[in-house]
Amino acid sequence: MSRVYNFSAGPAVLPEEVLKEAADEMLDYRGTGMSVMEMSHRSKAFEEIITTAEQDIRDLMGIPDNYKVLFLQGGASQQFAMIPMNLMKNRVADYIITGQWAKKAAKEAEKYGKVNRIASSEDKTFSYIPDCSDLPVSEDADYVYICENNTIYGTKFKELPNTKGKTLVADVSSCFLSEPVDVTKYGVIYGGVQKNIGPAGVVIVIIREDLITEDVLPGTPTMLTYKTHADAKSLYNTPPAYGIYICGKVFKWIKAQGGLEAMKERNEKKAKVLYDFLDQSRLFKGTVVPKDRSLMNVPFVTGDADLDAKFVKEAKEAGLENLKGHRTVGGMRASIYNAMPYEGVTALVDFMKKFEKENL
Ligand SMILES: *Cc1c(COP(=O)(O)O)cnc(C)c1O
Repeated sequence: MSRVYNFSAGPAVLPEEVLKEAADEMLDYRGTGMSVMEMSHRSKAFEEIITTAEQDIRDLMGIPDNYKVLFLQGGASQQFAMIPMNLMKNRVADYIITGQWAKKAAKEAEKYGKVNRIASSEDKTFSYIPDCSDLPVSEDADYVYICENNTIYGTKFKELPNTKGKTLVADVSSCFLSEPVDVTKYGVIYGGVQKNIGPAGVVIVIIREDLITEDVLPGTPTMLTYKTHADAKSLYNTPPAYGIYICGKVFKWIKAQGGLEAMKERNEKKAKVLYDFLDQSRLFKGTVVPKDRSLMNVPFVTGDADLDAKFVKEAKEAGLENLKGHRTVGGMRASIYNAMPYEGVTALVDFMKKFEKENL
């Protein structure tokens, strides 16, 4: 067996310890004589899995009691609709456009109400985060929406926008559990887990209780109403049980690493190796304004599309996989999520140095 260094943006690398544990428990989960995939979501064993998972993410993020944690399906993309359907009481919302995902979310919200795009970084291919300290927040906005870490462009909000008292909604798909967070600053925090937490198929929504109401837009399906899932503790219908089980293992793994402070330290150390190299390289160049750089997704280019393609191909041959950038940015992107070891990043940088020597 040989494992590669997987720099995929998502689905992405998971901690090897977690995969091994899951393998050990595959045929017989703790004396039940069956795998987690085969058991009832109403069983005692699964109830313990989901309640433990919820408690562990609450501990990690310091989630206050007046927030619910929901394990849902439909990916982050389904939240693009669920958020307006549940939160747009005035049918007005403000969106900050920092990339494709925020753009898609805003477009979806337009089906339900008026969307004001109060800031954007599209003028420079989303290579920076706009100044959000004094935006024209709409008086009747039901919420202000951001994508906190932009998976495709490699930018991250280092400071949350001043929402002037309005509810902040954040898509944290690609920075979930990468660093400590003050949950009280948000009304809704959500993300698909397949970037930084677990396997595809689970989306975690952390939502303040006062935002969970029966007063949703007319026609909102039962399954797309937060209250349905909050009242049923995410067991209204069959949840993505195996995915939740793996997420639970990743929460335990992060706890064992020292929690979110330790994750942040590790992630900063890893990202620094790569950014420091990019800043002095004569061949490779980072594409993001330094102050807005993501710790999770690092796009870079050589400036020559053929050379980029050669790099991606040769890197793959050297066991460094999935480095091709998103088609809208071109070049390369290294996603260095929580589970990417430090050695993976140094292996990448060593390879880049060698490639630079051979191709300059
Ligand atoms: C991947 C991604 C999405 C889309 O996630 P799906 O689960 O595929 O719907 C949305 N937002 C961000 C920030 C992402 O990285």
